[in-house]
Amino acid sequence: MKDNQTNILVLNCGSSSVKYQLIEISKEKVLARGVVERIGLEGSRLKHEAKKRKIIIEDHILDHDTAIDIIIKILLNDDFGVIKNINEIKAVGHRVVHGGEFFIKSSLITDDFMETLKECIPLAPLHNPANIMGITAIKKILPEVPQVGVFDTSFHQTMPEKAYIYPIPYEFYEKNRIRKYGFHGTSHRYVSRRAAEFLKIKYETLKIITVHLGNGASIAAIDKGKSIDTSMGYTPLEGLVMGTRSGDIDPAIPMILARDFRMNPASVDSLLNKKSGVLGISGISSDMRDLEEKALKNDKRAKLALDIYSYRLKKYIGSYIAAMGGVNIIVFTAGIGENSDYIREKTLEGLEFFGIKLDKKKNKGLRGKEADISSPDSKVKILVIPTNEELVIARDTRDIIISLKNK
Ligand code: AMP
Repeated sequence: MKDNQTNILVLNCGSSSVKYQLIEISKEKVLARGVVERIGLEGSRLKHEAKKRKIIIEDHILDHDTAIDIIIKILLNDDFGVIKNINEIKAVGHRVVHGGEFFIKSSLITDDFMETLKECIPLAPLHNPANIMGITAIKKILPEVPQVGVFDTSFHQTMPEKAYIYPIPYEFYEKNRIRKYGFHGTSHRYVSRRAAEFLKIKYETLKIITVHLGNGASIAAIDKGKSIDTSMGYTPLEGLVMGTRSGDIDPAIPMILARDFRMNPASVDSLLNKKSGVLGISGISSDMRDLEEKALKNDKRAKLALDIYSYRLKKYIGSYIAAMGGVNIIVFTAGIGENSDYIREKTLEGLEFFGIKLDKKKNKGLRGKEADISSPDSKVKILVIPTNEELVIARDTRDIIISLKNK
């Protein structure tokens, strides 16, 4: 390893998976990436990619400790590895889902950090424990290496009270911290900054709407570099229609499902999170590619799902223009935002009144790369910017370790 090389391991630990990338941060180069899937389940395996080669290792991967262990071993492997010695990993950056109101920015992981993160478990009971297991597991292997937590929620901590307080009795906020938090913050932060760089305009002067459309989807209003509103809420269920999540519905519906359909909380939760969204409407798939294909063949419910999806998204764009008193840039990102010309066109149709004019030719067939797809006379710039959350995590981790050295 060269002296000026700094390898940062980025970990994204879910309840049954661990995604990883080893990034050489001075060149922002991904040396290796992969995922451990089905942790603790039948058929667990590691998928690893490095040096332009891919490998799948099927193994009995019981828990997060074993998963992290296997990741380190493959990184050190003679054939598929990219490092010779474990001390070539200089820092570890973790994606952490929920930082509540405690973490307004990425932070060095210390004992205090861990205590506070545990306090956030009730806010994300499925995600935060997995993040904690990942941090604990890598700490056992690399006890002296600095670790940094980068939160999905922290970018949205700049929202004003009027955006994050729900109109329910105030004590639920005071006592239980029930409020809008917002998610995908790392992605909204990255693509909004990148959009300003792309257009060579000062970030802090812009009104930007970022539209993150993956399996989960959210939209954010970013005014002068600060998130002032976003569509996901206390949980990632609020807001836009998603692959399997309903997004906004009449808040009485869950109560009616419980009362009239005798559903318990777990089944209401599963209905709204796993069986709704475009999957629920179409009855076909949660995957946008399948729905576009079916809609082309005139499948009525697939078409309806796409109509509802883009109509509701269009309404959110309109409301965020109102919230900011204008917009300079609209950015599309994540699986659907980066790849679906159909959804981008359908969503922006009819917004010409606001000075939003799509260049249909530039939009057509554009997939997965940075581009300006607005027509030359559009007042508002429309961009596609592929998201890169791992890079943001690695950069934040680098910045924190540099600040430690300078102390
Ligand atoms: P993500 O969660 O960011 O990986 O995004 C997943 C979503 O992106 C799925 O709904 C996919 O159907 C969608 N997607 C990926 N590629 C395409 C494509 N070429 N056209 C339309 N949707 C796509």
